[in-house]
Amino acid sequence: MTYQKKTIEDIDVSGKRVLVRCDFNVPQDDTGAITNDKRIVESLPTIRYLIDHGARVILCSHLGRPKGSVNPKYSLRPVAARLSELLEKPVAMAGDVIGPDAQAKAAALQNGDVCLLENVRFHAEEEKNDAAFAKALASLAEIYVNDAFGTSHRAHASTAGVADYLPAVCGYLIGKEIGVMGAALSDPKRPFVAVLGGAKVSDKIGVISNLLEKVDTLIIGGAMAYTFLTAQGASVGDSRIEADKLDYAREMVQKAADRGVRFLLPTDNVCADHFAADAAPVVHDSMSIPAGYMGLDIGPETIRTYSDAIRGAGTVVWNGPMGVFEFDTFAEGTRAIAQAIADSGAISIIGGGDSAAAVVQLGYADRMTHISTGGGASLEFLEGLVLPGIACLLDK
Ligand code: ADP
Ligand code: MG
Repeated sequence: MTYQKKTIEDIDVSGKRVLVRCDFNVPQDDTGAITNDKRIVESLPTIRYLIDHGARVILCSHLGRPKGSVNPKYSLRPVAARLSELLEKPVAMAGDVIGPDAQAKAAALQNGDVCLLENVRFHAEEEKNDAAFAKALASLAEIYVNDAFGTSHRAHASTAGVADYLPAVCGYLIGKEIGVMGAALSDPKRPFVAVLGGAKVSDKIGVISNLLEKVDTLIIGGAMAYTFLTAQGASVGDSRIEADKLDYAREMVQKAADRGVRFLLPTDNVCADHFAADAAPVVHDSMSIPAGYMGLDIGPETIRTYSDAIRGAGTVVWNGPMGVFEFDTFAEGTRAIAQAIADSGAISIIGGGDSAAAVVQLGYADRMTHISTGGGASLEFLEGLVLPGIACLLDK
């Protein structure tokens, strides 16, 4: 897949009706009030560019899981209100997605005007990428812009299908995601270090395998380390392991050796006798965690080794926390690695929902080059998979 895609700046949008797929999937409280408008705020540069260049802007998004039928609980109306405040101009809210109101609102737009369609997932055809639905959506506009990275790994009507009928380009959010991550994967500044952790090996099989073909050093932490350690003959007590992934773990260690990749596993671990925020932490060597104890974070010696390996890196890609960072007692490994990455001066890319949350929670967000906004999409990107919502865009 090529990561060189045309952007809104490469196409003449003046006077054109432009359909923009945004990610307005915002969190709401019981009354429907938006509790965090970050996703709306982040969409503003693309929308403002289109307004300033005389486009007639038709926004669309999903919100929650209405499962293919109209449900007022998942209406995008609160988003239109917030967007209107942020843009300091009216945002016309359509009462449907491809119906008469959407058609009327789209047709009434003057240059620089903005409207928002209803939740695309009010139609079951959206997630089925139904051709007739995609065509009807596309018929509202003359140009398609995808700026929803978080759904770009899904071939839905509004994320990919519409591109069969319209010239398709990316907005600034997707442009940044594929610019930074694409460069790291295709032409990384070396040494290239990957730090992988998190809950399960099985979630990260594709990521580990793909990154082993690109990196100089691979660092493993989190619960997945215990599957690797077990495969190497360690006794990991009651740590979380995946017994059906031991062969895969051995294969990956062999692949690293074959390719000359430095492969690091924890040598010590912060353990506890039960899984709880107030469990007492005890440090044990990786080779001999006693029965009754489980590893919940990397230990102090491992932190030193990993920090040394990160120092001097040219590029660091990080996916998966080093421990149960949600509990303060077991967050130190994740915090220390965030610190090492921040201090390294490397191009730093954080992918994965919980990893991004950890970096924000621990206060390192503004010291990273890029925190990917798409959990599943960023993982598929790191796996080297083709993302339908990006593949459908025009090449530069
Ligand atoms: P991401 O969303 O960034 O891809 P994952 O979902 O794979 O990350 O993993 C995040 C989860 O892994 C966190 O909830 C964290 O508590 C858990 N985790 C990390 N280390 C351990 C461990 N040693 N034991 C149990 N859970 C762990
Ligand atoms: Mg996760």
